[in-house]
Amino acid sequence: MNERPQQIPEVREPLPQVERAPLIAGNWKMNLDHLQAIAFVQKLSWGLKDVGHNYGEVEVAVFPPFTDLRSVQTLLAADKLSLSLGAQDVSPHESGAYTGDVSARMLAKLDVRYVLVGHSERRGGHGESPELVGEKARAAHAAGLVPVICVGETADDLEQHGAAAIPLAQLESALATLPSDAEFVVAYEPVWAIGSGQAATADQAEEVARALRESLRDLRGDDRAAATRILYGGSVSSQNVAGFLRQPNVDGALVGGASLKVDEFTRIVQFRKHVTAG
Ligand code: PEP
Repeated sequence: MNERPQQIPEVREPLPQVERAPLIAGNWKMNLDHLQAIAFVQKLSWGLKDVGHNYGEVEVAVFPPFTDLRSVQTLLAADKLSLSLGAQDVSPHESGAYTGDVSARMLAKLDVRYVLVGHSERRGGHGESPELVGEKARAAHAAGLVPVICVGETADDLEQHGAAAIPLAQLESALATLPSDAEFVVAYEPVWAIGSGQAATADQAEEVARALRESLRDLRGDDRAAATRILYGGSVSSQNVAGFLRQPNVDGALVGGASLKVDEFTRIVQFRKHVTAG
């Protein structure tokens, strides 16, 4: 006799139909000094102008190192460029004796719109706890920034728990201290796919993105779940980006290595033109 309780799958109403403008975000990590950053952003904006890119249809954001932000902000303002600016990290504190930290208010003063929290290179390399990730998201929101909450499983997690369990737990924990009205973006980045050249398949990305959106319904309600953009990240290239963006729950890409090559990043931004790409 099978004594296990039967799991009856919950049938849910479809989410409200909401247009989510795709976001293509370039995480430069610790690359490009401020002079290189200026040259890069100029070249990127010229390239996108040449192909008639519509920033209202596909948002493009760059996430330079802290030392470049002022230079890039000045260029964006002077040339009236529609690129969005993001930062790679933020202090959970407002101000004070926190040597080396940069506050969310300082970033907001530089017209920074987005900030990454919980990137695996900070969770792993800097030992950032789930609670700290949540505190950073809260601090970002309090200063008017939009946190990009990065979640993802390691290869070991994948083997032990499957793909979705860890990202779901990380998302729940990051949202625990974030006010219920806060806007945020979720970036699903399997750790094994970051910088490895071995991207997830589009189906794998969709499966986790869908689970994350379902979880958002419980955590934040249907309207926020329908409006929140969920990005895929991990070895995204111009060859595979269209496959990810074709998935109903994938609303953009967080791009590392390929965002440093201006021609390649320009092609990634134009994912809608890659009609034959897988
Ligand atoms: C990242 O660091 O966020 C990332 C996705 O890197 P890559 O595209 O190089 O895998």
